[in-house]
Amino acid sequence: MSTYKELEREFERKIKELQNHCDHKELSKWTPISWAPGHYTGHEVIICRRCGLIINERTQCYWCGQWIEKKNWIKDDNLMISKTAYFCSEKCLQKYRKKNRKEIEALRRSLESLITREM
Ligand SMILES: [Zn+2]
Ligand SMILES: [Zn+2]
Repeated sequence: MSTYKELEREFERKIKELQNHCDHKELSKWTPISWAPGHYTGHEVIICRRCGLIINERTQCYWCGQWIEKKNWIKDDNLMISKTAYFCSEKCLQKYRKKNRKEIEALRRSLESLITREM
């Protein structure tokens, strides 16, 4: 194994150890996470300032916009927009699905009329 890999593994092990023994008392505020500078994911996290562990995560309900913590959110993988949407409740998810179905229907109808006109 290369020295680099060894160091990397050692580093990870030490971080884990630190996180396991930390009492997570120095917490950050809700902080937006971005996958690149300026590109926010819409998620916010609370991180322990001492050990770097993510203590909590939240995002906004895709339907009603209210903030929901990770333990409460309902995930829905949407193939139409190829992204994962999060919901605060089953009610919001159902409303969203219903609207989605209508949109898909409308799209299908306009495609059909386009095709028949072409022929
Ligand atoms: Zn900690
Ligand atoms: Zn909601």
